[in-house]
Amino acid sequence: MLPSLQIDPFSAEHRRSRKVTKSSPPKLKRVRMPHAYPFLTPEQKKELSDIAQRIVATGKGILAADESTGSVAKRFQSINAENTEENRRLYRQLLFTADDRVSPCIGGVILFHETMYQKTDDGKPFPQYLKDRGMVVGIKVDKGVVPLAGTNGETTTQGLDGLYERCAQYKKDGADFAKWRCVLKITPTTPSRLAIIENANVLARYASICQMHGIVPIVEPEILPDGDHDLKRCQYITEKVLAAVYKALSDHHVYLEGTLLKPNMVTAGHSCSHKYSNQEIAMATVTALRRTVPPAVPGITFLSGGQSEEEASVNLNAMNQCPLHRPWALTFSYGRALQASALKAWGGKKENGKACQEEFVKRALANSLACQGKYVSSGASAAGGESLFVANHAY
Ligand code: 13P
Repeated sequence: MLPSLQIDPFSAEHRRSRKVTKSSPPKLKRVRMPHAYPFLTPEQKKELSDIAQRIVATGKGILAADESTGSVAKRFQSINAENTEENRRLYRQLLFTADDRVSPCIGGVILFHETMYQKTDDGKPFPQYLKDRGMVVGIKVDKGVVPLAGTNGETTTQGLDGLYERCAQYKKDGADFAKWRCVLKITPTTPSRLAIIENANVLARYASICQMHGIVPIVEPEILPDGDHDLKRCQYITEKVLAAVYKALSDHHVYLEGTLLKPNMVTAGHSCSHKYSNQEIAMATVTALRRTVPPAVPGITFLSGGQSEEEASVNLNAMNQCPLHRPWALTFSYGRALQASALKAWGGKKENGKACQEEFVKRALANSLACQGKYVSSGASAAGGESLFVANHAY
């Protein structure tokens, strides 16, 4: 206890010693609040919030096309395509050049470092090409997960070293937003307090570095769907993780209006025997978000996390029809759930380009409707109902 609080501030003895009258308020020791030294000008703040708003404008979401070369290897293996730099360029080009029906659906595209510096067949850099289509260019800046010592298989995400300089360069090269993925696991003993605090802090540190360079940080604390836990446990853990993330963002003076959140939806574990309805998933997710995400955050862009394409659309739609008030845009930032059917239709073959783009357009249109609560399920895509779950998913 502070010494000044050990004496009764209302006692006559105290009043005599301090020469105060009976009505004077007790004098308590002052605890100084930390002072915020503003690091963003009003113009910088406006730039950040304008970028974030553009990405999540009505009907729009994000295409996550930032799979690392290793992740692409696994995707290409499933269609027997060779994982060469040229094949990765050709496949991404198909997605980026899909016809104008996607323009009102895709607000931003997240690129991997290699893709950022690749060009279309006509020689136009991908970032420039996407910008000309009115899409905001994003870049994955984390360097993947590494073990967190002394935990039960938990991880943190590396990539802070040199990030300040890399962000300056990416901004010059056309990126206006970034992504950093942290991973948490639900088991009877995890996530640990250490994993929650460490991952929240590294996300906040990343976010503040991005903002200093005019880059909107997408903050992604992904809780994996692996496990047999029920919906309630996922909701509880999601609330604890998000509360820690927003405390850390506040501690790091991050300007929330210039950020986006990329969370998991609240779902039961992949091997939970009970199946929950889309409405139950929507209610649990929106409840968790309302308890933890400040209304200053302009948008929440969900990852699909191994849900089938159709599930990811239907759940997003249910959230946008949920009777609870939602102060942020609720939209998509899907990788697998936008690409699974397209990838399958392509099959690594030039002659299938059109079919690939058709499947991508279908999912983009479906999710554009879903983020407005207007999607009516049709189940028509090639991989529509197929689970896209990958155990202990790496990106
Ligand atoms: P999925 O939608 O495939 O889960 O991936 C989105 C993403 O960007 C994860 O970091």
